[in-house]
Amino acid sequence: MNKVSRFLKTFFLVDILRGLAVTMRFYFGRKITIQYPEEVQPSPERFKGILRLYKDENGKPLCIACKACRRACGTNCFDIEGVRDPGTRTMRPVKYDWKLDRCTFCGLCVEACPTTPKSIRFSEEFRMATADKSRLHFHLEDMYLKGKDLQKFFQGGSKT
Ligand code: SF4
Ligand code: SF4
Repeated sequence: MNKVSRFLKTFFLVDILRGLAVTMRFYFGRKITIQYPEEVQPSPERFKGILRLYKDENGKPLCIACKACRRACGTNCFDIEGVRDPGTRTMRPVKYDWKLDRCTFCGLCVEACPTTPKSIRFSEEFRMATADKSRLHFHLEDMYLKGKDLQKFFQGGSKT
């Protein structure tokens, strides 16, 4: 670069204007910052979040207390007891204990579950931080908690 062009570049503040143009492009462009924890990005399709039990569209639990998940689990996460519902003659769980701190997220319990759709599935929930170790042990009613209720549970709040 010769002296004249360097002088012109300095005189017309070319480098500063270039820098400002980059700043303006990002300032007015599409925002990519997520306001976590108020906003949470959707998880990828095959993401394995915390295991949850699910209900059908009428709010009826899908689990039939067959204990196939318990038999499939290699780290002994489950303790399940069921009774036969006198009205529907189907089994339903009365005890469903699950230990998150033993889970390796292998997915064998989900594969073994015979119901359609699966009673137990990986959720999208990745926020599992807690200072209270007892919150890593779930009982039947806790297994249905999701979203804010699940976060409240992890933080030691009352169960809904
Ligand atoms: S994901 Fe694997 S380790 Fe976790 S509860 Fe299911 S079978 Fe057990
Ligand atoms: S979650 Fe599925 S495999 Fe486990 S007891 Fe219920 S129905 Fe059986």
